[in-house]
Amino acid sequence: MITELHQKLLNKETTATKLVQQYLDTIKKQEPNINAFLTITEEEAKRCAEVVDKKINDGEEIGLLAGIPCAIKDTIMTKNVRTTAGSKILDNYTAPYDATVMERLKKEDIIMMGKTNMDEFAMGSSTENSAYGPTKNPHDINRVPGGSSGGSAAAVAADEVVWSLGTDTGGSIRQPASFCGVVGLKPTYGRVSRHGLIAMASSLDQVGPFAHSVEDVAIILSAIAGFDPKDATSAKSHQKPYQNYLEENIEGMVVGIPKEYDTDGMDARVKEKYHTAIEDMKKRGAKIENISLPHTKYALPAYYIIMPSEVSSNMARFDGMRYGMQIDDKEGKGLWETYKDTRKYGLGDEVKKRVMLGTYTLSAGYYDAYYKKAQKVRALIKKDFEQAFTKVHTIFTPTSPEVAFPFGAKTDDPITMYLSDIFTVTANIAGVPAISVPIGTVAEEGKELPVGGQIMGKWFDEDRVLKVAHAYELETKK
Ligand code: GLN
Repeated sequence: MITELHQKLLNKETTATKLVQQYLDTIKKQEPNINAFLTITEEEAKRCAEVVDKKINDGEEIGLLAGIPCAIKDTIMTKNVRTTAGSKILDNYTAPYDATVMERLKKEDIIMMGKTNMDEFAMGSSTENSAYGPTKNPHDINRVPGGSSGGSAAAVAADEVVWSLGTDTGGSIRQPASFCGVVGLKPTYGRVSRHGLIAMASSLDQVGPFAHSVEDVAIILSAIAGFDPKDATSAKSHQKPYQNYLEENIEGMVVGIPKEYDTDGMDARVKEKYHTAIEDMKKRGAKIENISLPHTKYALPAYYIIMPSEVSSNMARFDGMRYGMQIDDKEGKGLWETYKDTRKYGLGDEVKKRVMLGTYTLSAGYYDAYYKKAQKVRALIKKDFEQAFTKVHTIFTPTSPEVAFPFGAKTDDPITMYLSDIFTVTANIAGVPAISVPIGTVAEEGKELPVGGQIMGKWFDEDRVLKVAHAYELETKK
């Protein structure tokens, strides 16, 4: 879609200004139902569109993303624009600088239409933890869009924008992509700069794109990836315009099917779509190999130790002194009461729960029993992948064991909510790249609900992940 729009802009079949107007109209029509946006940056979008139109008229060269409307998750810092991370504590917070990804995208003349809704500080799987009300799934507005990047996924699915950015700590790009029927990529840890991303769990967080096609996701990845001296974990890895290397066939590509992900615990309809997708990959030349990732069952428990530990430390900066909201200490109770009141009113229940859990797992006496043990499990999970990748090039699994669920279905039972990420957290724990692509829909209550399949690859091998995803996509669009 991006290359077609780019071509239309160059051929003067449309203008960036017209595109902005067209997408603004859709946003205005859809938002009362969908609630994908927390902030709409209409004026700025129009201004940027004029800049792009002038460049085109002056015959200047423009990048592929120039003039194309997009949306950015509200956990990414956008200079002079409200950035809330879905939290009341940052309700009136305006970012003083751009995240590195934004700096890079601005150089490409992107058109940001606004900031998208999300679970508070990216903690959740449904956007029900947003302080600003949930986002609705465009395929059925009685159902969640997934989370935490639910706003970014829904905005693309509802055609409010062409593409968007999300973040993924345990599945927050891939699971909503799967629920909303769009493509979502979590790059290798270190591939995309985290500078200017409001941190959730720093050793797991990655920024990545949502779009309607694998090619579009490849274009966006090429624009945001690369070394950044401002991020200590940023990698000096090789890089290329991934979109130019996609192929129709994947002859010789060995795709691993891990038995641990093919469980009876998942929705039978998801299982069926998954098996059909395996057959479709074969038609494009993939060689299927059965493999095992033996420590998979420990991934979710390890994630729910490591993640809250890092959350508890990252959330400490929200104290009412440095950022956002402060509950005034009118009664002169002192600093500690101000801290307490600000956090009490500013933060939601899920965030508080994770801060408490993380403080517990990091405290003296429990650190060895929980945090250190979880880190050892993390090493074993990484080893599983290392071993698997000596036999296969990529690994294919379902993205989520289920389809989008109705609002409220899991809010009373955190464990079932956490199980939503059972297939996605391993990629974050190991740091490998993983993409979710639509693999069909299932009919329920008169609606067609999307199902997603996940392709994981070796560290920094986004190239092969995208190749497999693209060839599969072509097979399904035949
Ligand atoms: N749903 C997972 C969680 O609640 C993952 C969140 C994320 O990737 N940001 O932690």
